[in-house]
Amino acid sequence: MSNKHIRQVVIVGGTHGNERIGLYLVKKFNQDPSLLVRPNLSTTCLIGNPQACNENRRYIETDLNRCFIKADLENNLLGRHEEKQAKVLHQQLGPKGNSENFLLDLHSTTANMGMTLILVNGHPFNLHLAAYLTHHNPHVRIYRWTQGDQENAFVSSLCQLGFAIEVGPIPQGILLASLFKETETLIHQTLDYLEQINRDSSPLLPKTLTLFQHLEVVDFPKTPGGELTAMVHPQLQGRDYQPLNPGDPMFLTLDDQTLFYKGCSTVWPIFINEAAYYEKGVAMCLTQKQDIPLQRD
Ligand SMILES: [Zn+2]
Repeated sequence: MSNKHIRQVVIVGGTHGNERIGLYLVKKFNQDPSLLVRPNLSTTCLIGNPQACNENRRYIETDLNRCFIKADLENNLLGRHEEKQAKVLHQQLGPKGNSENFLLDLHSTTANMGMTLILVNGHPFNLHLAAYLTHHNPHVRIYRWTQGDQENAFVSSLCQLGFAIEVGPIPQGILLASLFKETETLIHQTLDYLEQINRDSSPLLPKTLTLFQHLEVVDFPKTPGGELTAMVHPQLQGRDYQPLNPGDPMFLTLDDQTLFYKGCSTVWPIFINEAAYYEKGVAMCLTQKQDIPLQRD
């Protein structure tokens, strides 16, 4: 087990202003900080993009959760609202890659993602914690969104330790009691684990961790001019984390033709038909299901 102690936990909600579960959990915790108290752990909460939250919009000018590339954080010529807000968060939580904080960034999705932890690195501490959470909470799934050496631009990439929590399905702009409570439970389970680590006790862990490793994103079929020509196929809609085999239906064109998955091996699509990803040219993310052994030290 890694015996690294956690000095400070920071919970960020409202990185996207129309994802209300994270925002209202932060409001709740800030109203009654005793809810998060653990004897050997210090936890604070903050709102990632207050102005976007006030306007119940994902962002004002650009996606805050894509603004955390190191070179961009150091570039003072980048002056859009979220580029400036990223620098504020970097001041508070960074420096990127060298922060001692443990960061939880709360998100929600219109896709049927259940309770997902999004890891942006393979740090053993995060893998152990993820294994603990999947062991104690069978609804939890692990998605590792790494792409070779490519730098990650998410808020959660500010700190080596921690991850984003992504829950769904939920429409943008609303609260949903069931997912609110499930997210709250997951936060408490995370704090309980960190408290045990800080007390030098070793939580029992399974020997392997099942995770979904990012492979690639898939765009909707489009005309050369960029108009959508197809929708997610009804047989694929809502089937996040289920295997998609070569030859399975993937899209349905506007004139009712089925388009099939043409890959040569089984993949596990997630973020299927996520509303916020239409503008990014992403109909879904393809992943590979992996069982990885957990190293102990
Ligand atoms: Zn989000």
